Amino acid sequence: MKRIRILPDTLANQIAAGEVVERPASVIKEMIENSIDAGAKRIAVETELGGRRLMRISDDGHGMMRDDAILAFERHATSKINSLDDLGAIDTLGFRGEALASIASVAKVEMLTKISDDHAATRVVIEGGRLIDVKEGSRDTGTTLAVRDLFFNTPARRKFMRSEATENFHIANIVTHYALAHPEINFSLTNNGREVVRSQSAANLKERAFQLFGPGMIDSMIPVSGGREYVAKVTGFVSAPRERRTTRDSQYFFVNKRFVRDKTIGDGLRDAYRSVLPYGAYPVAFLFIELPIDEIDVNVHPAKTEVRFRRGEAIRETVSEAVRNALAQAGIVAEENSTNAATILNKEVEIPQDAHQIAEMRETAKADEEILAAPDLPLMRETLPEIASASSLFTNEVTSGLVEKKTVNQDILLDLDPQEFERKANERAERSEEAVFPPLNSAAAIPRSIEVDQIAASAITPLGQLRESFIIAVAGEDLLLIDQHVAHERILFDRFLRSQQLREKRAQNLLLPETFDLTPAQAEVFSIIESELEILGFGIMRLSGRTVAIKSVPADLAAAEAKNLLSEVLESVDPERRAAPERSITEEVAASLACKAAIKVNMKLTPEKMRWLIDRLVLTSSPTTCPHGRPIILRLSMRDIERGFHRI
Ligand code: ADP
Ligand code: MG
Repeated sequence: MKRIRILPDTLANQIAAGEVVERPASVIKEMIENSIDAGAKRIAVETELGGRRLMRISDDGHGMMRDDAILAFERHATSKINSLDDLGAIDTLGFRGEALASIASVAKVEMLTKISDDHAATRVVIEGGRLIDVKEGSRDTGTTLAVRDLFFNTPARRKFMRSEATENFHIANIVTHYALAHPEINFSLTNNGREVVRSQSAANLKERAFQLFGPGMIDSMIPVSGGREYVAKVTGFVSAPRERRTTRDSQYFFVNKRFVRDKTIGDGLRDAYRSVLPYGAYPVAFLFIELPIDEIDVNVHPAKTEVRFRRGEAIRETVSEAVRNALAQAGIVAEENSTNAATILNKEVEIPQDAHQIAEMRETAKADEEILAAPDLPLMRETLPEIASASSLFTNEVTSGLVEKKTVNQDILLDLDPQEFERKANERAERSEEAVFPPLNSAAAIPRSIEVDQIAASAITPLGQLRESFIIAVAGEDLLLIDQHVAHERILFDRFLRSQQLREKRAQNLLLPETFDLTPAQAEVFSIIESELEILGFGIMRLSGRTVAIKSVPADLAAAEAKNLLSEVLESVDPERRAAPERSITEEVAASLACKAAIKVNMKLTPEKMRWLIDRLVLTSSPTTCPHGRPIILRLSMRDIERGFHRI
């Protein structure tokens, strides 16, 4: 049996560092937060070799006196809280007193800091958690922290660091985030001496976004300013539907100015765009949520990029409502109420899994009834359960879900006065008829993906479109549903890959080169995939800084879309290929471009176009699955249909 021992401090700090310091960018994040907490008006970040060799952050904040400068590296050393009570009222970004101790335990750190009252500065050197030297130095009021050789004493962690370009991508992203959250602060980031970000102090978020992203993006952004009393204030900018992305990387969320990655806010945003953007497309967003400190718990994750809301559902609805109103004001969606209808109807198909969830549904049902009580609620046909989720939609479980939900709602209806009850009941009946189509409970789990060898183009006859998104076709005795977007995506993907393999560039020159500004993060990805883009047919010239000029685009693409496409590809290609690690970067770029360039859902197709798509689709390497692995064709066989009608 092994005896219990207390770990030496350094080891304890190294273990804690595992949570706080995931990668170079997390060091930068902690240091920027400290500088902001110290009231800095100017923050300069320098890195070498993706932060492995050096990360240096200088600020002009209040600095530290000599004793504090040494103490700051102790575990749980913080000037930001004194007692448990303070935890409920944190208005600084840091408070755990862990960051400096953790960082110093896994790197070689030198700090130079000065407060305005002292004439001399203090220089502290710590390596691997060991205090090496403290002496006087000189600098203006503020703090400079140089972190060298990250993970020099923890080889296992060092191995986990990704390529220089990947780490640079993350660093650029973190700096961009904080620069957005604090327009008033002057930020700069250089990487191996090359300038990546330079933003003078700006008057407001819009000016800051302009500095960071250039005029192209911000011109198309829609201001959001809303919220609900007693819940939260929501401000910021969201993109018009034409500026869309395939990842959430361009969504920047802040809670009380703290950068967060949060699902609740993301869900609210998605709800708002539900009928506006197709499945798999995400808007660009900078959203600032402000709410009383006691409504959140930031003490969830050591890196603190997650928050826990006391009333998550209310936050989600508030975000959705604020964004929806902004879209309505910009004339992109119809005026309010429609959100509510969409929300209600979408909730109809929720499947209760257990008692807990049913209880939760009771809650939501109550909320729905409140919304129902609002005057002249339009009943929207187009918000019927989406075919996109067909495989789950056609199962028995869903049917039982609907039944369950109905009972719950009727309970609540009984509480209303009789007249009101009748009106609601009628309304409900009408709505149910629309929402609960007979086929839902008449056929069990019928759609299947089709087998490759079962189709020949000539055998497939397109009949029309469902919601301008799915081609309805017959093939022999089978009924087919073809997802038009992924079908086209597959066609383009195969074509791109082929031209890459054959090294035959199929490009079309633009009449006038189009210049545009890459975001710092896009610029990092661009440097990784530059040669892939070139083989695909992109002719891109680097101009000064992050400005590039597009001279040509792949032959199959709409030239007018060149800028959007490139920017989307740069945002969706994941340099770490977390989603599909087995794929080569070439395939990744081809898949991303295919996805961006393919026709979208919610687009009307002529019979000729449908024919064209089907003819090309069956010739591809895999007509039934898209490059991202989603099915392209769903099939309902005659047998399935007959079984559905109880004929066999
Ligand atoms: P926390 O930020 O959670 O308090 P840290 O380990 O990040 O813990 O920092 C410890 C303390 O060191 C802070 O509370 C602050 O007093 C001081 N400190 C760190 N960085 C700076 C800085 N750039 N300027 C002034 N003080 C700083
Ligand atoms: Mg801190």
